[in-house]
Amino acid sequence: MSLAQPRSVRNFVGGAFVDPVADEWIDDLAPATGELIARIPASGAADVDAAVAAGRAALAGAWGRTSVAERADRLDAIADVLERRAEEIVAIESLDAGKPSALARRLDVPRAIANFRFFAGAVRHDETGFFGSEKALNYTLRRPLGVVAVITPWNLPLYLLSWKVAPALAMGNAVVAKPSELTPLTADLLAHVVAEVGLPAGAFNVVHGLGPAAGQALVEHPDVAAVSFTGGTATGKRVAATAAPAFKKLSLELGGKNPTIVFADADPQAAIDGACRAAFTNQGEICLCGSRIFVERSAYAEFVDGFVKRARALKIGDPAAADTEVGALISQAHRAKVEGYVALAKQEGGEVVCGGARPSLPSPLDGGAFLEPTVITGLSPTCRTATEEIFGPVVTVHPFDSEDEAVALANGVRYGLSASVWTRDLSRGHRVAAALDTGIVWVNTWLLRDLRTAFGGTKDSGVGREGGRWSLDFYSDTRNVCVAL
Ligand code: NAP
Repeated sequence: MSLAQPRSVRNFVGGAFVDPVADEWIDDLAPATGELIARIPASGAADVDAAVAAGRAALAGAWGRTSVAERADRLDAIADVLERRAEEIVAIESLDAGKPSALARRLDVPRAIANFRFFAGAVRHDETGFFGSEKALNYTLRRPLGVVAVITPWNLPLYLLSWKVAPALAMGNAVVAKPSELTPLTADLLAHVVAEVGLPAGAFNVVHGLGPAAGQALVEHPDVAAVSFTGGTATGKRVAATAAPAFKKLSLELGGKNPTIVFADADPQAAIDGACRAAFTNQGEICLCGSRIFVERSAYAEFVDGFVKRARALKIGDPAAADTEVGALISQAHRAKVEGYVALAKQEGGEVVCGGARPSLPSPLDGGAFLEPTVITGLSPTCRTATEEIFGPVVTVHPFDSEDEAVALANGVRYGLSASVWTRDLSRGHRVAAALDTGIVWVNTWLLRDLRTAFGGTKDSGVGREGGRWSLDFYSDTRNVCVAL
């Protein structure tokens, strides 16, 4: 899909669409073709200042006076508009991120709508604490934090933005969002939706631009009370180093190198299908993707055979085509990084048993950042390829001999985001789930999400949890009121 005219995207500050103060712009390219699809602001500190000031003004004005019920109604109104415009959003997200439109239709867009609906419901039904005694009544008030910075990556643009914006608004904060400059289009669309539903000016602001400029200025801003960041671990470290000395509240959702553990007693086809979905959904560009597959030795050969057949059968190509299962990686630079890992795997003694090459596709897709789903065997589970986050359609497969060894291998990386375990023995499923050092464990499934549950990672995969009441907690301050009797 292409656009006749590249879009012109502007910042959304104080309820108005505005050019960046310095009048500097960035090109936004379609990953699947390399075509120019938009020109977006390269914002700097002055733009961030204006957005934060607009947030503060909103909190001091109409937005600060809204009731919980009014805010919940606004979130539902946003969800209604997103639902009405769902097919348009599917097309935009697929174009901007290179992801299959079928995936955007199945995952990104329904989830973005659900995020707004869910947090509308969550805040309506929120309960706070009460502690009574013969001397006093203690009760808990939730207060908004103030202006909250929301910084998001390119892999699930609207899905992750809405995951943060919905609870932040529900709790009465003002938001300044800085989406990835690689995928700005649905953040821009959300700004238009917010304007359409008449959210008070300044409650939601978007500042487009580069991380080291706009993102850094936002994290540094003295009037930003909290930072919710999703992105890579190295960037997260920089964000934490900037925000922590100013005592800003911080939520970090970072990288992963997630294990898929397949025991010999697992349903073989379910395990192959599940591991394949975990490996290659969104071209492997999901923080939760299972990029290290550990298979019990007695089932290893059969698993690899079936898994490779399944990976080879994935349809790669035009993200706009309804039957495409693997789209383009986000950029040429990112594909080069992923290809670098395939070369490294060979140096480390691995065998590429499937993929590893660029597919041959017709024009204009020949200008896109495509890479075949890639399966590598024969590597040590402690080598760089098997322990560093690649964030592409590349998995390594390793045999193991015992449950203890599987757990040790799974835990033997600096990341701890998620894991999936495949077994028919549910006692083992529970035991392994308890032994894994990750924030999320799936047993006989992957990426089955219930928005009430806690989401987040251990170790280098992040700090804090979001989801359900954890989001309501993060995006509010808790105040205890003690009334003497
Ligand atoms: P990234 O490079 O860390 O960027 C994330 C966001 O931070 C972008 O908006 C980026 O802007 C911005 N940024 C960069 N430098 C900054 C700075 N100094 N101060 C403030 N903001 C800054 O990550 P990515 O490549 O977009 O995304 C992929 C990573 O995200 C992977 O590691 C993946 O595992 C992780 N991820 C984690 C989760 C989770 O829930 N745990 C979910 C999805 C993705 P620019 O785009 O302009 O650099």
